[in-house]
Amino acid sequence: MNNAELILDLDAYRQNLVVMRELAPNSQQMAIVKANAYGHGVAPCARAAREIGAEWLGVATPHEAFALRALGDTGPILCWLATPGAPFRELAEANIDVTASSSAQLQEIMAADIQVRVHLKVDTGLNRNGAPESEWVDFFERAAIAQNHGKIHVVGLWTHFANADEPNHPANDLQEQRFDQAVAMAAEYGISPEWCHLANSAAAATRPSAQRDLVRIGIASYGINPDPQVKIDGLVPSLTARAALARVKSIQPGDSVSYGWRWTATEPTTLGLVPVGYGDGIPRAASNRAEVRISGTRAPIRGTVCMDQFMIDLGDVPAKAGDWVTLFGSGESGEPTAEDWAQALDTIGYEIVTRLSGRWTRAVRGER
Ligand SMILES: *Cc1c(COP(=O)(O)O)cnc(C)c1O
Repeated sequence: MNNAELILDLDAYRQNLVVMRELAPNSQQMAIVKANAYGHGVAPCARAAREIGAEWLGVATPHEAFALRALGDTGPILCWLATPGAPFRELAEANIDVTASSSAQLQEIMAADIQVRVHLKVDTGLNRNGAPESEWVDFFERAAIAQNHGKIHVVGLWTHFANADEPNHPANDLQEQRFDQAVAMAAEYGISPEWCHLANSAAAATRPSAQRDLVRIGIASYGINPDPQVKIDGLVPSLTARAALARVKSIQPGDSVSYGWRWTATEPTTLGLVPVGYGDGIPRAASNRAEVRISGTRAPIRGTVCMDQFMIDLGDVPAKAGDWVTLFGSGESGEPTAEDWAQALDTIGYEIVTRLSGRWTRAVRGER
């Protein structure tokens, strides 16, 4: 029997991709499975995404892209975060599409001595990666020359929103306009890629104009809304985190709990010991803040979350060592969701699930 378990529901994951497909029916779908599929487990998610017809898989790093090939995936894959010395030749040999985010990176890609499939990334306002507007002339000129010499095949042109989770933010229109300018400028240099793309989950759901040739769906596929402002109908959280109570003990008024004595009982109560902690990705910031579900009711976390364990207040809930505690899940049985944890901790659902690691065992439901 396991102390702590992450249960991935692939039926929910696939259904979420169907929901997103219906919102962007005319675009190809890229299932984003970076960071171990946002903590959900990349192998089952990648397989399930293909089963449901995702034309693309997307990851950040070359390493993650190679890992998908090692798992046996043979379809289109895009990666976008390479550092100098990246293995562009090996990526091309593995038929993985790469991103060029600067003229310098284009130079490096051309040196791979093999034709590389490239998506050109332009910065339209995020000011993170991508070629800034001041470099576009040089960027497109070099890309055109490299393409004419057969060194690269420019298959994509893309950018990324800074404020897609705030649908009414003026930056969204502005970034889309700048992207259109980039597309037009690239065309002047003879570059008209098959896939122009800019939408993540939030933009795919709220900005039909941004759907273009493909949409890059991450958080929504896991059943988590991008933001409380962007609620997407029909999503079901696909990951449940649960643990077996290690013990139960009574405390008296005035007794304080866990490191730093950051919570003190005002009446007699019963504590339950949950055997996961920040070593497993439970945020220490959940101390005295988040709730779990046990025996059909909610119980609050008391005191500081430790590396391996934390305490919950059982009150008069009948519970004993070995009983399961659901930290978060689909919400359908009254348990908190990752979004509830995010709200309690002043962060985003992305962070709650992606940081899960450590000593969980993993179970997968709905495998085909
Ligand atoms: C992570 C990521 C996405 C997916 O974003 P979601 O908000 O999770 O849908 C899309 N595109 C890029 C470039 C990303 O890094």
